[in-house]
Amino acid sequence: MAAQVFHRTTCRLCDSKNVELVVKLEPIPLSENYCDDAEVGKNAARYPVDLYMCRDCGHVQQLDVVDSKSLWESYTYYSGDAKGMPEHFRDVAGEIIADYRPVQGSLVIDIGSNDGSLLRPFKEAGYRVLGIDPATEIAKQATNAGIETIPELMSLDLSRQIRSRHGTAQVVCMFNAFAHADNMGEIAEGIRELLAPDGIFVFEAQYLLDIIDRVLIATIFHEHMSHHSVKALTVFLDRHGLELIDVDRVPIQHGSLIGKVQLKGAGRPVEESVKALLELEATRGLDKIETLKQFAEKIRQQRERTARLVEEWRRSKVSVAGYGAARSGPTLISQLGLTGAIEYIVDDHPQKVNYFSSGDGIPILPTAELCRRMPVYTVILAWVHAAKIIESNREYLERGGCFVVLCPETRVVGKNGDILI
Ligand SMILES: [Zn+2]
Repeated sequence: MAAQVFHRTTCRLCDSKNVELVVKLEPIPLSENYCDDAEVGKNAARYPVDLYMCRDCGHVQQLDVVDSKSLWESYTYYSGDAKGMPEHFRDVAGEIIADYRPVQGSLVIDIGSNDGSLLRPFKEAGYRVLGIDPATEIAKQATNAGIETIPELMSLDLSRQIRSRHGTAQVVCMFNAFAHADNMGEIAEGIRELLAPDGIFVFEAQYLLDIIDRVLIATIFHEHMSHHSVKALTVFLDRHGLELIDVDRVPIQHGSLIGKVQLKGAGRPVEESVKALLELEATRGLDKIETLKQFAEKIRQQRERTARLVEEWRRSKVSVAGYGAARSGPTLISQLGLTGAIEYIVDDHPQKVNYFSSGDGIPILPTAELCRRMPVYTVILAWVHAAKIIESNREYLERGGCFVVLCPETRVVGKNGDILI
């Protein structure tokens, strides 16, 4: 079934009409739709992922919005499955408890809670927890596993219902979803509704500065509607009676922000970290159209490098596989000109193996096939886990296979390390 897409004409954070197209990209299929027919996969509808910048608040965003039902209802990504994420969430929960000392037994809410990986450590520490996530199957499994999860999209209405049923929250988190929502104004109002007077809202989102500096094009797909910067967020939060009081850069997803927010006037001081990142962004011109145009040029150059590699593979007729049927796969394949170059993708996810990728109809086989078939090159599509994938597939490398890493830069890795291309 075709997804519904509409094109916004206003900035997602400040409603300004002063938005400008800054990075034109190839349209891509919805990335989590695996199908049982190669032809259906090849003919999957494609939707735009172009980036726009707001000339008023500097927010960088996608304005072609795929309806949330198509995006989220049958979502199959489990954060608990992602390497390192349960540990990361455990650390984050520990820090929030240590830094803000929410009263034992008080309520902690996670918006976009997925399988409950972030809420679990709070529950174990004696807090009441509540998840919100529209992916029905994941929400059901989380509830069955002891993390009550409401299978709905976050809305102001839902916030009011939660507040009347459970009271206000000492901690509201939004880690997997802060870049994922179109109705950011409503979400901010909902968070304000949910927070206790001295409550704290904590978000994590990929950082625009890292996306630009490291050319993280793999992160640009329909779910990632916003590419956040501290400046645009500060203005946005202020509009909704909220105040950013602390912000940290963390290495998650090759560069993210963790921000702490309070109700305006709640009394905690604004930490130096906020000012420091605002100054860095000003120095780097992160709110300037030219900066994003330079980013577009870097993407073009990376596409050219990859195209040369693909051309060489075609000429020498070598076998090429992909590793990881990840969300970023269709993005990398489309934006870097790899369409038609990959014969099969290896991945062990039970909801993906023996299915076909959306957009190219590439068959997905178990990872054991890698050493059985020994493709000459294997393109790492699950870019976030490139280092771990290379590390755990020494046998493939020892026997002469090569991994190709496309993001942040194009590298070919053989048994003795990087091979110059
Ligand atoms: Zn704006």
